[in-house]
Amino acid sequence: MAFGDFHTHTIFSDGFGTVEEMVNSARAKGLSALGISDHSMTPFDLRYCMRPETNIEKYEPTVREAQKRARELHNFPVFLGIEWDLGSEIDRERYDYTIGSVHYIIRKNGDIFPVDSQPEKVFGGIERVFGGNRLDFAKAYFEQVVTHAEKNKPTFMGHFDLLTKHKTVDEDDEAYLAVAREALAEMLKHVPLLEINMGAVIRGLRSVPYPHPKFLPLVLELGGKVILSSDAHHPDKIAFQFPEMLRLLADIGFTHVSRLTPDGIVEDEIATLL
Ligand SMILES: [Zn+2]
Ligand SMILES: [Zn+2]
Repeated sequence: MAFGDFHTHTIFSDGFGTVEEMVNSARAKGLSALGISDHSMTPFDLRYCMRPETNIEKYEPTVREAQKRARELHNFPVFLGIEWDLGSEIDRERYDYTIGSVHYIIRKNGDIFPVDSQPEKVFGGIERVFGGNRLDFAKAYFEQVVTHAEKNKPTFMGHFDLLTKHKTVDEDDEAYLAVAREALAEMLKHVPLLEINMGAVIRGLRSVPYPHPKFLPLVLELGGKVILSSDAHHPDKIAFQFPEMLRLLADIGFTHVSRLTPDGIVEDEIATLL
């Protein structure tokens, strides 16, 4: 396997493996590179993110040390990333790359609810904030995705349609699809790279990645680029079903996937990775 995996979590946030265990697993699986991307601190919800109790201050030196060791001993590239939530302050210069993700609906009046937490919290928020109107919920979610891309310009965008995790919206509904497509086009103007994210497939919640494959022809048409991400929270799940994802991308017409390197982002021909 010559591909890399650029969205993974460790015990510094809500993952289950140490940085070292993640690097060892990536190497054992024959990957070409690994990105570690724990959750930025969200002051309004401290359950999943890095915070003082989980040694947030040790995250950077620990990954840098692993990076140095992997390079010196094995010539294996490890990247220090962060999954950057909208509404979270970070010093981006400290990281090799950032993933722009939206996990919360944040209203101007301070009302906040999670998009991918327990279903009762998500549906409770939709009821409370949008009177149960799921299209309004989708519009608010995608507005934030576009805002994140425009304002913060992360290296690539995370799980584009995470709001569908608990089947909050009908993914065949034309009104929903129109809102999502418009947001996708707008987002790609600001950040042309988005991930193919396997998080919900790993959890058995979906059979398809984020974004739903029905959006991928539009990504292709608009000149967007894609990068592979497991969103693994466990060392065993690194690069989960990547060969299947590459075949899916090839079937849609993609010829290349992007990859981080110490010299910047390069594109690999999919045919050479299969
Ligand atoms: Zn995420
Ligand atoms: Zn993640």
